[in-house]
Amino acid sequence: MSNSSALISAALLALAIPASLRAAATIIIVNGDTGTNGFNELTAAAPVGGNSGMTLGAQRLIAFQAAATKWGALLNSTEVIHVYVTWEPLTCTPTSAVLESAGPSTVWANFPGAPFPNTWYHAAMANKIARQDLFPDPHDSVPALAPSPFAADMRIVINSGLGTPDCLAGSGFYLGLDNNHGVLIDLVTVLTHEIAHGLGFMTVTDGGSGFQFGPPFYPALWDHFLLDTKTNKTWDAMTPGERRASATNERRLVWNGAAVTAATPAVLKPGTPLLTVSAPVSVAGTYQIGRAAFGAAIDNPGLTGEVIQLIDTPGAAGLGCSPISLVSSASVNGKIALVDRGVCTFTVKAANLQAAGAIGVIIADNVPGGPPADLGGTDPTVTIPVVRITFDDAQALKTALQFGSRAHSGVYATIGLNPGIRAGADAFGRAILYTPNPYQPGSSVSHWDTIAFPNQLMEPNINPDLTHEVTPPFDLTFPLLSDLGWLMP
Ligand SMILES: [Zn+2]
Repeated sequence: MSNSSALISAALLALAIPASLRAAATIIIVNGDTGTNGFNELTAAAPVGGNSGMTLGAQRLIAFQAAATKWGALLNSTEVIHVYVTWEPLTCTPTSAVLESAGPSTVWANFPGAPFPNTWYHAAMANKIARQDLFPDPHDSVPALAPSPFAADMRIVINSGLGTPDCLAGSGFYLGLDNNHGVLIDLVTVLTHEIAHGLGFMTVTDGGSGFQFGPPFYPALWDHFLLDTKTNKTWDAMTPGERRASATNERRLVWNGAAVTAATPAVLKPGTPLLTVSAPVSVAGTYQIGRAAFGAAIDNPGLTGEVIQLIDTPGAAGLGCSPISLVSSASVNGKIALVDRGVCTFTVKAANLQAAGAIGVIIADNVPGGPPADLGGTDPTVTIPVVRITFDDAQALKTALQFGSRAHSGVYATIGLNPGIRAGADAFGRAILYTPNPYQPGSSVSHWDTIAFPNQLMEPNINPDLTHEVTPPFDLTFPLLSDLGWLMP
């Protein structure tokens, strides 16, 4: 978020100036629901976690206002920020759900005072900088007219079906204001996330195609801060093809903003899990890994050993789904075993290889894509470290292993935490954006990478351990909005 010195100076500023001049903005929730849906739902509700609304609809509105009030206290705008909200059925299955969607109602470029020319700004921020409502709602002067979703500054659609049998069954929204959500999904947290998107925490460039929003076709404000560390270009300076590649450039797209980078040491914990190959030179370097929910913790300095590919069927790659043969056991004994994903669970592979004497296991993805996801499963008898690498990285190691067997030299690697790199940042302390391959519409590029630790509000998934905080030392959301210009006078 912000570093400690920024926090201190902000506090001093608040003391030094009259209360009326403190940074603040008014955020109004505009109820777009009709009938008895959503905010108008009349089902009686018992007070919960500080939310004293008497009906389900009233409690929903109070939870929205709580998130809006929190943002309003941190931001600074002479213009009222209108959030147009409706509750509607969104994509659902019994085990997953789209919680909501959010974005600016309109975007603006070349308005009075715009810092970057020919650049799209979210409406709320454009109004703030221009110090005027660029799109007044006729409803404001003629109350008989219904409020306009287009004249609002942002639009949020929230999933009205959540918690019903076909929609993440049993896991509805928690409407209390105290974050005591238990197994439910904390609505205030979700709203805090969505309002951040509406304030500017997203691009309006299509990362899937690489095309900018338009016409006229301009970069989003967001794109000026997106630095691809492979090409060393920012998104505003790229061709559509370069942006398309960058959007799936796993963990190589970072936020190049001073406030976020100053805040990462306070927010993100040191230690990025990596596979570091020391030899041979052809494959030496660091590789992204997914961590297992079982086996030894990945730590520092980690486990170092020779990597050997499991060959449990002559001439084929090994799967490790049945007890390892004596011949293969002799080859993996005392080594880090490389085994392909597939056919059986990760825990079965790991247990078989551990029984054969392996000191660690690297599971190779069997289809291209990345970054490597974490490995699920439970088996307390597995006590060696188990990690996952991508298909492409595994192919490189396998090639080196084949060459090495002819040259009588092996592949040597360490599975461990790199303490010099924070979880969710690059080696320069820049926070990493979410750029999985394949591209995920609605999630890619406009969120932090899921490797961030502790979990961040603006990751693509709402994690149950989030706090309600949006500032350091808990969270990077506010520093990012600060980079965008939300603290400009
Ligand atoms: Zn989001």
